[in-house]
Amino acid sequence: MRAEIIAVGSELLTPARVDTNSLWLTAKLNEIGVEVSQKSILSDDRDLLAAAVAGALSRAPLVLITGGLGPTEDDVTREAVAQAMHRRLLFDEAICAGIEAIFARRGRKMAEINRRQAFLVEGAAALDNPNGTAPGQWIDYPGGIVLLLPGPPQELKPMFEELCLPRLKERLPKAAIRTRFFRVAGMGESDVDALIAPIYKEYRNPVTTILAAAGDVQVHLRAQCQTEEEAEALVEELGAKIRERLGDRIYSLNGDPLENVVGNLLRERGATLAVAESCTAGLLGGRITEAAGASEYFLGGFQVYGKGMKARLLGLDEKLVEEAGVVSEAAAKAMADSARDRTGATYAISITGEAGPESSSPGIEPGTVWIGVAGPEGCEARMFKFPTGRARVRAFAVQTALNLLRLALK
Ligand code: ATP
Ligand code: MG
Repeated sequence: MRAEIIAVGSELLTPARVDTNSLWLTAKLNEIGVEVSQKSILSDDRDLLAAAVAGALSRAPLVLITGGLGPTEDDVTREAVAQAMHRRLLFDEAICAGIEAIFARRGRKMAEINRRQAFLVEGAAALDNPNGTAPGQWIDYPGGIVLLLPGPPQELKPMFEELCLPRLKERLPKAAIRTRFFRVAGMGESDVDALIAPIYKEYRNPVTTILAAAGDVQVHLRAQCQTEEEAEALVEELGAKIRERLGDRIYSLNGDPLENVVGNLLRERGATLAVAESCTAGLLGGRITEAAGASEYFLGGFQVYGKGMKARLLGLDEKLVEEAGVVSEAAAKAMADSARDRTGATYAISITGEAGPESSSPGIEPGTVWIGVAGPEGCEARMFKFPTGRARVRAFAVQTALNLLRLALK
């Protein structure tokens, strides 16, 4: 079963507002086995919208339209849908009385323009809106179903969950979707793909999608079958093969971010953590403390960005830093060791690198980062050459540092 979503609102075509309704609706539809095959965002233009609705009706048996049900001139969804379906708009006394009552409860008189909200597309059933004035509309037609839903998320969500989902479930052919979600660190997107493509290419169902952010690759599997059991069996079969191939490069099987995974490992071991950051100057500590309850294991750290600070706060030997360079194995190791000593933490991570865009250390290319991990088994540092771009280098450095600690903890 396929659906199309149309989000209506000129504000959604400005940089100021994002269409989140369609994402939420997509998740809900997926749960009942409906795939969204196309979605569009339309300005408040009746003819444009009517053309888009007609197009959607010709392609998909389920069309959901959100927004534009308000009382003002620019709320044109009702008119556009009537136009696209060649149906009339009919005034509904009972709805109008209901809207009047809402205003009366607030001690106000209904404005004349609110009468616009009491028009239903011919043949539509009104969907009650306890959180706003405009009712939604459920329209059955020979080719399928059209739903008109309010734009404000706090009105749309309860209406869809309580009034639409149960009816849709009854009407739809039985289908179930099951998903798996793996997060991988320490590898690029194309390397992950090269490893697992030979496995997932054997399956058309589940569908495999690979998404990437700095130092974080996500593998999504999605099976659609007639029953939950079949879908579950398929994602489990392919998921197990992918898990085996990727091994401990997978850091999360449930969507947890890396800082939570590392936090849980530290907590399980009763270990504590400190950081010494040069090039990321606090980003790593910030990430670690995004996990709730981080105070159980995270002690704190040192922002040693400026030249003299590595000596002053961490007691690094100025001569060593001078000779080996600030971005060096020796500096990374000394920073991690000293952070561990000075805080008494079980583990310490250090980051020193060249974020760019220009190099401030002679002979060191932007993107070069040394990361040190000190722990009970000693101290090690590794060099990385991250893709350039100041923000990207720093994001990669943080993610990679967390991943090195994760591997050290395993
Ligand atoms: P109203 O009676 O409030 O005018 P409406 O059904 O006409 O309701 P819109 O005017 O289209 O809805 O949108 C009202 C507000 O709802 C928008 O300003 C926006 O904040 C929010 N909204 C609308 N559409 C979306 C969307 N697709 N995703 C997220 N928020 C939305
Ligand atoms: Mg509106």
